[in-house]
Amino acid sequence: MRALVESQVRGLLELAPDAIVITNSAGRIVLVNRQVEHMLGYDRAALIGQPVEMLLPERFRMAHRDHRADYQRAPRSRSMGSGLDLSCRCADGREVPVEISLSPMEADDDTLVISVIRDVSERKRIEEAHRQLEREKDEFLANISHDLRTPLTAIKASIGVVLANEPPGTSPPLRRMFVNIDLAADRMIKLVDDLLELAQIQAGLTQLRLDQVDLRTLVRQAAQTIEPLALERGQRITVSVPSRRLLATVDPERIGRVLLNLLSNAQKYGREGGEIQLSLHRRRSAAVVQVVDDGDGIPPGDQEHIFNRFYRRTRDTEGGRLGHGLGLAIARTLVDLHGGTIWVESTPGYGATFSVSLPLARIERAGNKETRS
Ligand code: ADP
Repeated sequence: MRALVESQVRGLLELAPDAIVITNSAGRIVLVNRQVEHMLGYDRAALIGQPVEMLLPERFRMAHRDHRADYQRAPRSRSMGSGLDLSCRCADGREVPVEISLSPMEADDDTLVISVIRDVSERKRIEEAHRQLEREKDEFLANISHDLRTPLTAIKASIGVVLANEPPGTSPPLRRMFVNIDLAADRMIKLVDDLLELAQIQAGLTQLRLDQVDLRTLVRQAAQTIEPLALERGQRITVSVPSRRLLATVDPERIGRVLLNLLSNAQKYGREGGEIQLSLHRRRSAAVVQVVDDGDGIPPGDQEHIFNRFYRRTRDTEGGRLGHGLGLAIARTLVDLHGGTIWVESTPGYGATFSVSLPLARIERAGNKETRS
């Protein structure tokens, strides 16, 4: 009966799509399946009784012995070195990227370890091709933005001269066209600048100009900047900050930009005649800024995408609201650069709350009682 079960188990091992290696508590190989031969090119009879380290590239062997001893002390099913790039050494010396999961198995007088080894070469190749494509796309966007900036600046300057020296008797429709050209040039320059900035951050070319600032000042400045636009839509802005300084080491221009972006979205997507709440407070080991609006909010399915570049909800583009879907992508990369996080909470129909959390490691706090202004 026992022999029957054993032969069935062996049969199953042979059918498995992954390579399987079973070792004893001394780290010696006691059983391998056929996939080990296919994947790594060893003759399996020659593997039996060998230390399992022979399947690893030489540089990992020492460390593996220690890890193996640790595993033997507390064996449980888990993946090996999760998050690490693992590889196996083939018989001909090549290396194969792999994922390995480990499980202990009690045998008569020993604890065996089953290692299931999956060849992930194909997945790694696709991931690398994808990364290369992304790099090329970023480079293309950066180059095209750069090339577009010069003619756009020329258009902007020229239309400025035309508007300033408008010949007498220019008809109102013609004047409107000049003004439209001026506005369109502004928008395109903003788009091109945003694209360039995002490309630079993603290429790691952006240096933060860190300074110790009172975050209350940044919050108030951002509110003041957006106020005229909010008034145009009859919106009220309330600002709530601690009564005493909340000092942080940040790049004031960049964090100011993040806040302005969130406020300008609240102004664009908030309710006409509604309220925009801006607040700053300390939450455990971070300073948190929140922007709350009372607009239509964001459906759960869109929430995870709005921080991706060029993502705009169809409804908003149909409504003709200005924007090009780069603001939140830039905000997220800038907050990331500060070691912080940005996220949204929203129930459709009940507005949206955007939060930015900046870690306290860079923040020295001098008070946290809140006041309203
Ligand atoms: P845009 O320039 O289009 O506003 P963003 O990156 O700032 O680009 O925002 C991406 C999309 O997220 C917007 O097009 C809009 O659909 C959605 N969004 C952002 N902020 C809000 C908000 N406060 N309320 C509702 N939708 C929002």
